[in-house]
Amino acid sequence: MDDIVPALLESIQSQFDERTYNSAKLKKSLQALKSNKATYIDVNDFAIEIGEILADVLGTNITAEVLPDGKMYFNIADRILNLTLKKNHELISGFAVDVQKLLNDEANLHLKSQTPEFNQDRVDGLVNKLSSANSFEDAKWLLDDPIINFSQSIVDDVIAINIDFHANAGLEPTLTRKMRGDACNWCKNLAGTYEYYDAPDDIYRRHERCRCTVEYDPKDGRRVQNAHTKKWREQKQKEKIAVRKTLNLRKRDKNES
Ligand SMILES: [Zn+2]
Repeated sequence: MDDIVPALLESIQSQFDERTYNSAKLKKSLQALKSNKATYIDVNDFAIEIGEILADVLGTNITAEVLPDGKMYFNIADRILNLTLKKNHELISGFAVDVQKLLNDEANLHLKSQTPEFNQDRVDGLVNKLSSANSFEDAKWLLDDPIINFSQSIVDDVIAINIDFHANAGLEPTLTRKMRGDACNWCKNLAGTYEYYDAPDDIYRRHERCRCTVEYDPKDGRRVQNAHTKKWREQKQKEKIAVRKTLNLRKRDKNES
């Protein structure tokens, strides 16, 4: 069987590069950073645009006709998604980390902005779902919204790692989740501004086609006042980390993507 992946990847990558290079939305986000006005809203817009371009390019290039037996085999899905989504991760987390650095500077925080790891588990889940479907027709939706959703989750990963870092450094950060588009009741319930330690566990979760945003600006935080509150915070934080660990385990059990 001929290996279709190299030629397929080449056309996906060149179309992706051309579309991102010419994107007015990406230029707008980059411009906001250049003029020191960028926030996580710009990062979110940037991520959605990158995700939409990739989903579109994947959808145009990968069809039942080009796939052997009209099926998405594991080794095809694995190579294509790992390469393209790693690039998404680099672009989006790179931009987000630059914006975080700007926000840190504006808040007079001399803290290095943190970069999250590539979420390999989530990509593996997507690859498995794609390659285990009976036909590509049944699975092609996975190359649409889940790609955009994944791209947005990179922004959340940057926020999460930086806000954890700030909380550990003794700051009192707050997070804001806002609704976007036609928000469902679940999203309406989650929207709001929370202190780090009181944020709901689902704050970063998104259902299909959800475009809600999570924002973080260290300027909105306050310094922890005294040793007593500091101790109380540390206890709350330990509990929070314990809860997050069990949630992650549960997620893995269900093989959720
Ligand atoms: Zn939503």
